[in-house]
Amino acid sequence: MAESMQGLKRSHRCTEVSEADLGKTVTVMGWIQKRRNLGKLIFVDLRDRSGLLQVVFDEESVGTQDFEKAGRLRSEFVVAVVGTVGKRDGGVNESLKTGSIEIKATQLRILSEADTPPFPIDSDRSVKDELRLKYRYLDLRRPVIQKNLMMRSRVATLIRAFLAEEGFLEIETPVLTKSTPEGARDYLVPSRVHPGSFYALPQSPQLFKQLLMCSGYDRYFQIAKCFRDEDLRADRQPEFTQVDMELSFVDVDDVIDVNERLLARVFREVLGVEVPLPIPRMTYREAMERYGSDKPDIRFGMELRNVSEVVRDCDFVVFRGAVEQGGSVRGINASGQGAMPRKKIDALVEFAKGYGAKGLAYAAIQEDGSVKSSFAKFLKPEEMDGLITALDGRPGDLLLFAAGPDKMVFDVLGALRVELAGQLGLLKKEDYRFLWVTEFPLLEWSEEQNRYTAMHHPFTMPMEEDLQYLDTDPGRVRAKAYDIVLNGTELGGGSVRIFQNDIQEKMFACLGFTKEEAYERFSFLLDAFRYGVPPHAGLAYGLDRLIMLMAGEDSIRDVIAFPKVKDASCLMTEAPGAVDEKQLEELGISIVEQDK
Ligand code: ASP
Repeated sequence: MAESMQGLKRSHRCTEVSEADLGKTVTVMGWIQKRRNLGKLIFVDLRDRSGLLQVVFDEESVGTQDFEKAGRLRSEFVVAVVGTVGKRDGGVNESLKTGSIEIKATQLRILSEADTPPFPIDSDRSVKDELRLKYRYLDLRRPVIQKNLMMRSRVATLIRAFLAEEGFLEIETPVLTKSTPEGARDYLVPSRVHPGSFYALPQSPQLFKQLLMCSGYDRYFQIAKCFRDEDLRADRQPEFTQVDMELSFVDVDDVIDVNERLLARVFREVLGVEVPLPIPRMTYREAMERYGSDKPDIRFGMELRNVSEVVRDCDFVVFRGAVEQGGSVRGINASGQGAMPRKKIDALVEFAKGYGAKGLAYAAIQEDGSVKSSFAKFLKPEEMDGLITALDGRPGDLLLFAAGPDKMVFDVLGALRVELAGQLGLLKKEDYRFLWVTEFPLLEWSEEQNRYTAMHHPFTMPMEEDLQYLDTDPGRVRAKAYDIVLNGTELGGGSVRIFQNDIQEKMFACLGFTKEEAYERFSFLLDAFRYGVPPHAGLAYGLDRLIMLMAGEDSIRDVIAFPKVKDASCLMTEAPGAVDEKQLEELGISIVEQDK
């Protein structure tokens, strides 16, 4: 039976009680983690979001009635305990913050009883994801998740405080809106008042924040929910949180400066980690050439080397053909892996195929200097020597090569170096290596759509020195766009925006929009620009990913209170779900059965 807490007031969270309180009377409330019944004494671990505290009941101190109640306690009962703080009799538990003390109970109330939970609420047991997410409210009691969400709250608070100090205003933008220019599929919300019309949920506050700049707000930020209807991967959610900002009268360096200081502050205060400033910068081109990725993990080397010149005329058709067809041959050196067993190498080849490679060529340099290789028989000795020199190969090293179109070669080797680094234990989570990647291409050719698409979005400013190519060779135009990368993960990105009519029109032309089409989608922004627009630039972080990396988690689900699973459903609420016929009628919607 549930008792009321009337007359009692919590004085401490569990781990706020300390040796400084010895002899004092405290009132604590929380969940029973564990009960041990020793006959004359009953021990209980009491849990709240701060941690655990031991409570001991003996009949003499707590009275017969409450002692009997204590005997009925089970895991996850919610209780209130009044008691005296004392030293632990049975020795100190070093693993607990409150390990040297205990509460000797003088009063116990059972505020609520609990069924046996479907899994135990402690951190070190692995529970199946489906079960955890179905009972998320229980999963959220687990200390690891609580720690993550507390960190998330702390980071959000720090970001708000820092940006306010820097003169940013926090302004909310609509969730029921029109399509935004981020380029993913929109979530649509049907309008009842305008049957047949739909709102789109924002993929980002992009257009609104640019409008706020037009309106003179100067520096804006928002911790904003964004929505993208994409097929989910491990680090994606249909709704996610951005730390979004926009600044007026600034250029690339200004945005980078304020954000470096923001990141340094957050990492110092939350993790005690010093981020050396300035954060290094690398152009997109350099990132691709050296790491095969626009979000390179720079915690380790294993850089790519272009060996096309060395093998241009060799008799190995895979290599020669790739170069002849305008592609390249590139390699990495897995140093010290020369003795890797054939089976493991075969697994790497399979891995490479997953990224589009037809195969992976390897050369293992033996301790005596001889080479075991999949392709040596096609190469002249001086060609093999050339490859080894190009990759700084030494006895005991394993050289791996991919050949083909540049993009595929970058993809394959970029992924392979990270995979190998993982296998070799080179990826230390607590080693935080930030990097700015700059000078992204403005446009990206889409085979599917047979046209250029914006690599960032259509309002991104080309670099001044490349403006001349907008008409003649748009593919080579670089943008004033930048990404902030941490340990191989893109944490955020942004750009300087186009604020000049003529450049914007050229940009739309490159994207294959007529003036009318562009106007149809973004009229309000283009109109706003006619009434005095300041130069402006901005950036947005994925807050979920940032917290994931800070918390050392592998999935953003572990830093989101109520996440969805891969098919975008919520296992707890069972959203999305069917709705009443009546609701559909009001919206003027009828469901067409689809063949599966
Ligand atoms: N709206 C952009 C994005 O979501 C960020 C920006 O350009 O500020 O990627």
